[in-house]
Amino acid sequence: MGFSMVIDLNKCIGCQTCTVACKRQWTSNEGQEATWFNHVETKPGRGWPRDFHDMTPPAGVYAQQGLKGRIPMLAESGGRWQFDLESLKPGRYDPQKPLAPKTAEKGNAPDWGPNWEEDEGGGVFPNSYFFYLPRLCNHCEEPACKKACPRNAITKRDDGIVLVDEPNCRGYRFCVEACPYKKLYFNPQLGISQKCIMCFPRVEKGLPPACVGSCAGRARHFGLLEDPESPTHRLVKKFGIALPLYAEKGTQPNVFYVPPFSATGFNADGTPNGQQRIPMDYLKELFGEEVEQVMATLNAERAKKARGEPSEIMDELIRYTFNEAWKLPAEEEFGKHV
Ligand code: SF4
Ligand code: SF4
Ligand code: SF4
Repeated sequence: MGFSMVIDLNKCIGCQTCTVACKRQWTSNEGQEATWFNHVETKPGRGWPRDFHDMTPPAGVYAQQGLKGRIPMLAESGGRWQFDLESLKPGRYDPQKPLAPKTAEKGNAPDWGPNWEEDEGGGVFPNSYFFYLPRLCNHCEEPACKKACPRNAITKRDDGIVLVDEPNCRGYRFCVEACPYKKLYFNPQLGISQKCIMCFPRVEKGLPPACVGSCAGRARHFGLLEDPESPTHRLVKKFGIALPLYAEKGTQPNVFYVPPFSATGFNADGTPNGQQRIPMDYLKELFGEEVEQVMATLNAERAKKARGEPSEIMDELIRYTFNEAWKLPAEEEFGKHV
């Protein structure tokens, strides 16, 4: 329990404003070229780092059989991208050669990176589909990264925020191996691991995390999971319409997702078949069996709204006033909650 985030995949437009807001705040230093505490990938797809889901077995298996995860290779992340910003200057700018990244390792064009599969999608026309999946550290209830660190350099605060104690870290990267979501990053400049800090310096001042406050789609909700007045409590606990990603990994994430609707599919003769284009089996792969019930609830509530009937759930998701998307303890009250 503690701070939690809910991301409504029906409202994420893949604009990466959150990604840039986070990068500008926390990871724009040397050594952090391949560090994205937040990124948004397009689904279906192999994700970032490539096939990250297959790199670490579920936590139970990890513990019982001693099976370890593995550290993503730099190639699986796409390397450290570099941009020749000088080429944008007047006199040097060539519209035929738009700003394109090169990798710091080989100096050639990268062949993978965050959201490499942008808008590629799945399905066969006219039943094609895609959606966006923002990803950050889940500030897990049972953080695999914390358990794996032999120096106890990862802590989970009483308010749920998971942090690397950087002065104590020696860069062994057992945490990177263990995290099923591959959301820790080795900083070669400093020789330590780094991760999302849930914007704790902002949160302690009563501000939402940068990725939440800047969300152009108003897709993100933030607050204490146990607080009945928090939007995340209502979405996860009261309405039960937000689910964690890859729950089978066993780390009990505190980031949850409202699963995506999709347009109706078509029969071969071009008539609508009334089926959602995103296959339910694919949604189950991501969000588990419960997603079927969640989709049924969301569809029923959406139908109510379409008929002009009230729907508390849809009103919560529409979020008429953006700053109601988060609820934070007042600065002077913060110590009582954490
Ligand atoms: S997502 Fe990974 S880095 Fe974040 S708390 Fe969970 S195990 Fe640790
Ligand atoms: S909570 Fe803060 S540090 Fe974490 S991904 Fe969002 S902006 Fe980045
Ligand atoms: S800012 Fe919001 S809408 Fe844009 S990509 Fe991030 S989560 Fe999605």
